[in-house]
Amino acid sequence: MSFYNKEKEHGHMSLCSRSLILFYLVSRSKDLIKEAILDNDFMKNLELSQIQEIVDCMYPVEYGKDSCIIKEGDVGSLVYVMEDGKVEVTKESLKLCTMGPGKVFGELAILYNCTRTATVKTLTNVKLWAIDRQCFQTIMMRTGLIKHTEYMEFLKSVPTFHGLQEDILSKLADVLEETHYEDGEYIIRQGARGDTFFIISKGKVNVTREDLPNGEPVFLRSLGKGDWFGEKALQGEMDILSQVVESGLSLLSAFISSLIPLILSFLLFSRHHRYEAENAFFFNLNLADFNIIDTLGVGGFGRVELLKSDENKTFAMKILKKRHIVDTRQQEHIRSEKLIMQEAHSDFIVRLYRTFKDSKYLYMLMEACLGGELWTILRDRGSFEDSTTRFYTACVVEAFAYLHSKGIIYRDLKPENLILDHRGYAKLVDFGFAKKIGFGKKTWTFCGTPEYVAPEIILNKGHDISADYWSLGILMFELLTGSPPFSGPDPMKTYNIILRGIDMIEFPKKITKNAANLIKKLCRDNPSERLGNLKNGVKDIQKHKWFEGFNWEGLKKGTLTPPIIPNVTVDTSNFDSFPEDNEDPPPDDNSGWDIDF
Ligand code: ATP
Ligand code: MG
Repeated sequence: MSFYNKEKEHGHMSLCSRSLILFYLVSRSKDLIKEAILDNDFMKNLELSQIQEIVDCMYPVEYGKDSCIIKEGDVGSLVYVMEDGKVEVTKESLKLCTMGPGKVFGELAILYNCTRTATVKTLTNVKLWAIDRQCFQTIMMRTGLIKHTEYMEFLKSVPTFHGLQEDILSKLADVLEETHYEDGEYIIRQGARGDTFFIISKGKVNVTREDLPNGEPVFLRSLGKGDWFGEKALQGEMDILSQVVESGLSLLSAFISSLIPLILSFLLFSRHHRYEAENAFFFNLNLADFNIIDTLGVGGFGRVELLKSDENKTFAMKILKKRHIVDTRQQEHIRSEKLIMQEAHSDFIVRLYRTFKDSKYLYMLMEACLGGELWTILRDRGSFEDSTTRFYTACVVEAFAYLHSKGIIYRDLKPENLILDHRGYAKLVDFGFAKKIGFGKKTWTFCGTPEYVAPEIILNKGHDISADYWSLGILMFELLTGSPPFSGPDPMKTYNIILRGIDMIEFPKKITKNAANLIKKLCRDNPSERLGNLKNGVKDIQKHKWFEGFNWEGLKKGTLTPPIIPNVTVDTSNFDSFPEDNEDPPPDDNSGWDIDF
């Protein structure tokens, strides 16, 4: 090949490969810059995406031998990465070190406007890459903003955080960090001290509890996208739950413990999420701000009135006579009803917003559920179909799962205590017998409605959440047939029939095989054999054949269409009518009535 040809060939090549070579050189430089940054104690803490952007924004600078790049005492705003050559670093004319390729220097300048703390002089020709503070900060801000926007969007998509003010969401987004967990990993171990609060942004988590050391873990519930947990740890309590990722890679956002004060203020907000804003709203209300429209119900202790606020919002107000409470020694029950209801934030439990009291009455301001009592609808229809019963039973299962996970037993299940909201979803009301007993503990107080009372309550053996599952079986039976399975002309006779057991009861044909099977599993004489109270908890009920194909997710999200959609106008047409309360008001004497409310 002649020299000429070679020249020619080279000239020809240069057109297409110069850019390739340039690309190769640039990408080699970029790798070097990246490594230099990752090797630098300060800059290696940046996120990879930020480092990438910094690398992309750096520009080349060249110095000849014996030039001064940085002069001690000068104000500088550039940070350098050295690609080629050698420099000498001196401070107060004393030589500190020499540096070669792959080193970052001047990095203090990108943090803040500062005077250079040392002098950097070239010993050879030097090739550097530089970025100034302005550019660096723009990148930090932009990548931070993108993340922030991403987190804000996620937080806003979580129903829990609906109603949270933008600035609180924004603070929250500031402190979020992403963490990934692999399938089967524990996130929190029972008994361990936690310091992190988690929101699930992707994946699924199982919550289990070990009642006995080294015993089989009891499944409590599953959590999915948008659910959160770990908040107890932040309040310094031990978290009793352990969490396992169940399916796939979960992507969780976590708070770090150093941010506890902010998180705690957020938590107060998030725990009661959308209700917190309501709390503030209700706190400023007075009794005089409401007008009574009608009576929704009359119960053992007083009346439940339908109210309208000045803003035209409807509420239910349970009004209890103090004298009656004192006379019947129900102070403790009423107090516990208030405490439990006020803390209960479930879509399947009637909300109690706040309470008032005056010299004669206690007032409980509740969400108004205007679909009427399930009992009224059952009475009008005689009985419910299998699928209708399934829907209401499922609502109760959700309410129970919520209460039981908080160590609360309800103890008063019956159609009268289930009211429908405007959508037709059933909610538990009347927490007069509910009690927080904790886990693995029993209580002995006799209470409930005779037909729904579990045998261990009658026998005074002590009872726990399993008594609620007994009553769930009774409810199913009553909804399917119109009357409860155990029923006698007086309570004592009813109790005797209950003690004979569910196997002595004839099941009408209209109760399907699967329904009968579930009822019998719920109504086992022995509480520890009852479905719902076994090692898989409520999941056993949800997975029972009778619920096969039931859309639990839709129920929880409120997207499942209820079997009966009430015709709700803002009045009490779905409720029975009650005579007005004409009784003389009790005397103003308040002595001995000071109920802690
Ligand atoms: P009892 O102990 O006799 O069952 P109670 O005095 O404890 O009655 P509740 O059961 O709480 O009172 O309420 C009585 C009735 O009032 C309910 O059965 C229901 O019909 C109606 N009611 C209660 N709360 C609401 C509400 N938030 N929205 C609509 N109706 C309600
Ligand atoms: Mg009631």
